[in-house]
Amino acid sequence: MDIGELSLRALRQGVVAKKFSATEVVRYYISNLKKNESSIHAFITATEEGALVQARAVDDKVASGEPVGELAGVPLGIKDIINTKGVLSTGGSKILRNYIPPYRATVVERLLNQDAVVVGKNNCDEFAMGGSTENSGFFPTSNPWDVTKVPGGSSGGSAAAVAAGSCAAALGTDTGGSIRQPASFCGVVGLKPTYGRVSRYGLMAMASSLDQAGPFARTVEDAAYLLQLMAGWDKHDATSRAEPVPDYLTEFKKPIKGLRLGVPQEFFGEGLAPEVKQIVEAAIIKLESLGVKVVPVSLPTMPYALAAYYVITPAEVSANLARYDGMRFGVRQPGQNLYEVYTKSRGQGFGAEVKRRIMLGTYVLSAGYYDAYYRQALRARAAIKADFARVFEQVDVLATPTAPTTAFELGSKANDPLAMYMQDIYVVPVNIAGLPAVSIPCGFSQGLPVGLQLIGRTLGEGDILRLAQVYEQATEWHTMRPGISGQ
Ligand code: GLN
Repeated sequence: MDIGELSLRALRQGVVAKKFSATEVVRYYISNLKKNESSIHAFITATEEGALVQARAVDDKVASGEPVGELAGVPLGIKDIINTKGVLSTGGSKILRNYIPPYRATVVERLLNQDAVVVGKNNCDEFAMGGSTENSGFFPTSNPWDVTKVPGGSSGGSAAAVAAGSCAAALGTDTGGSIRQPASFCGVVGLKPTYGRVSRYGLMAMASSLDQAGPFARTVEDAAYLLQLMAGWDKHDATSRAEPVPDYLTEFKKPIKGLRLGVPQEFFGEGLAPEVKQIVEAAIIKLESLGVKVVPVSLPTMPYALAAYYVITPAEVSANLARYDGMRFGVRQPGQNLYEVYTKSRGQGFGAEVKRRIMLGTYVLSAGYYDAYYRQALRARAAIKADFARVFEQVDVLATPTAPTTAFELGSKANDPLAMYMQDIYVVPVNIAGLPAVSIPCGFSQGLPVGLQLIGRTLGEGDILRLAQVYEQATEWHTMRPGISGQ
């Protein structure tokens, strides 16, 4: 038996049945992590000691016959933008290179309450702004399938760590694709829940009206299991949703026959790499053969989504990042007066992309430009939402490519923000409309993974997960592992 191939539930069951100990599981993953880090660089902080202490506590509980949680001994990576009490949490930014939070995010709290073990904090683009993890203030992460390629972003460290087998699963955040696009590039499952399904408390805010945390896993079942344990109302987040969390693993058992799968033509046009298009179309044909009814649909507002996103997001970023002033959080640069402390701390602490968005955001919100940009973007947002709502009267789930290409060369788009933003074309509409979506592996193009995006209606996680699960069961893509070069 290979510990590295066991599902999260099987890991827990093995620990409870004393087939192996939590310590053995955690040692197994930590040894992988150490081996992988020299070529992948998926972690800003590895928490080996803390992980072993947590694992021992689980083993003690098992030994004394105490009940253990649903994630007993399961080793997780956590994106560094998610606050972990007592453990460095930088958000990928130099301005927080010394920040040790005095509290933890609700999502972390909930998973720790289930006896999960944190093996480390994953690298990410600075404050989640980017699509390649090259905007990390510390170092870029490599794609385990080809170390000369990016892992995607912004949660690239989480995706790469799961793909490389450095942890059993991981958490990321998705404001405009940051879970799904790296999942697609690294050949793993990445799930962005409905806005509000999961608490945002303790996530470093990027764009508060769009941010959601979600899981990365090797299988749909593992992702559903983690979502189950993370989701639900939280008194610390007024935007969290009060609807009861369904049992996603039972939803799997519902038949998919008759489920209507919409294929929106706007997601298959210009810019989509021909091989990616072919692979995604083949996946849709596969789903049809499994019993879903494929329906061509149209979402005519899609061409406005990227522009609206790149107005709304910087606007919210410019407000949210005002808190990093060198006074209350992170690194303070000395100065002659308060103004100089602010400008030096922010000037030296933030990277180029963050500064670009703060400036853009300040501009689109400023008097005289607000109506032309921000208000227009909000109008586009309302139209996009209405467009999806209309289509979801005809179909239950939408299928699209997750990204227009496979993982690109490290460095190839780093100095071209617009080319980087174009990568987000199929993922951002989902955040704008607040919908749930999952990316699952559906093939390879020249040795690099391709992702299929399944989008659900509001709180339709159950539908997209059961469809994803049926596809996964009928294919082999999720069983493929990268042979990491450079080891
Ligand atoms: N690439 C997108 C951006 O740079 C996604 C960010 C995210 O989802 N956190 O804004």
